[in-house]
Amino acid sequence: MDYFLSEEQETIKSLARRVAEERILPVRAELDENEEFPWAIVKDLADADMFRVFVPEEYEGLGGGCLELCLVVEELSRVCSAVAVSYAASALGCFTLMEYGTEEQQRKYLPDIANGKKLSAFAITEPTAGSDASNIKTTAEKIEGGYLLNGTKQFITNGGEAEIYTVIALTDKTRGARGASAILVEKGTEGFSFGKKEKKMGIRASATRELVFRNCLVPEENLIGKPGLGFIQAMRLFDKSRPGIGAQAVGLAQGALEAAVDYAQQRIQFGQPIISIGVVQDMLADMAIHVEAARALVYAAARMVDSGAKKVTEESAMSKVFASDTAMKVTTDAVQICGGIGYMRDFPVEKMMRDAKILQIYEGTNQILRNAIAIELRKRKARTE
Ligand SMILES: Cc1cc2nc3c(=O)[nH]c(=O)nc-3n(C[C@H](O)[C@H](O)[C@H](O)COP(=O)(O)OP(=O)(O)OC[C@H]3O[C@@H](n4cnc5c(N)ncnc54)[C@H](O)[C@@H]3O)c2cc1C
Repeated sequence: MDYFLSEEQETIKSLARRVAEERILPVRAELDENEEFPWAIVKDLADADMFRVFVPEEYEGLGGGCLELCLVVEELSRVCSAVAVSYAASALGCFTLMEYGTEEQQRKYLPDIANGKKLSAFAITEPTAGSDASNIKTTAEKIEGGYLLNGTKQFITNGGEAEIYTVIALTDKTRGARGASAILVEKGTEGFSFGKKEKKMGIRASATRELVFRNCLVPEENLIGKPGLGFIQAMRLFDKSRPGIGAQAVGLAQGALEAAVDYAQQRIQFGQPIISIGVVQDMLADMAIHVEAARALVYAAARMVDSGAKKVTEESAMSKVFASDTAMKVTTDAVQICGGIGYMRDFPVEKMMRDAKILQIYEGTNQILRNAIAIELRKRKARTE
């Protein structure tokens, strides 16, 4: 399907595809098996200017928007979702800074992120605050000389590998979520350490780690935007970033579809390639329909984000839910089409199916997002009454 991408968008997409095929494909199984953070690939992505895509031009970026980011994430995820999320998480980690940070903060941090020298990460989740993100307990007490952070963040992508962290913490613990603020914390700050490194079902080459703050003092100028707005900033951030998870899902599903078609053409049973069998054809056709529908929804949601539309909660959630459910279904069907070999680790669809599951869980589980969509529907109905 033609999405009428601009020449620049086509260039970004094909560059990302080249890095994915030339640099990631040969090592993806090894990275997964060893659960190894893909530093060499991060360097390749930086050399190809991929980290510049989502950073404004005045800070050494290319000034791309949500759609450009989605195009890169999709191409990386078509080959390896773990690499794609490590890249996307760095964008997530600096979005709040790009949207609400001062010029000084942006000048200090964004060029290093744009040129791929430093990765960033975003941290809101805690042991007692997952879907109920408003229940965070990490505090950032205002004292002389800055904010004193105490608490633990859980399941943070790029944890331990990133240099720059946007942390949501309570600057006023008496006000709950209304007392939350976004604060930049640099790796190496005294009192900031890394806890448990998670061993995961999928996206194994990505780093998922605890962040531990024990009397960690950060300068006052590390506060992003106004105090007390951290929770709202985080929710707005997710509205804009969820098409990126959708793009990860579309790329992954596309990769699985291609692997299934290749295999179905080669595999001979009952004297014919299995792609000649009606049931297999039906499965492949449904997979292709769903992948294309997910792509269309993700691109449309991304374009809406880029249009500057005030409210994108519903569309952004829809794109994430539909695309991630599609990725789960398509990767599962790809394993089915590949039969026994599909279940083996030597074959890529096994990893793809494992990688797909997380897409229905992070950045808002699909149940939570369905709730959010239903709430928007109710609000819209109420407005027309
Ligand atoms: C690999 C990985 C990477 C991650 N990366 C990051 C990151 O970079 N930064 C970050 O801050 N967080 C990150 N997370 C956290 C992630 O966003 C949360 O895991 C997710 O939001 C779900 O929270 P939870 O795991 O606590 O599940 P819970 O909230 O405990 O949910 C458990 C189950 O209950 C359901 N449920 C709960 N409440 C409701 C409700 N009201 N209605 C319907 N169903 C409900 C959920 O849908 C789910 O099925 C990551 C998680 C993982 C696993």
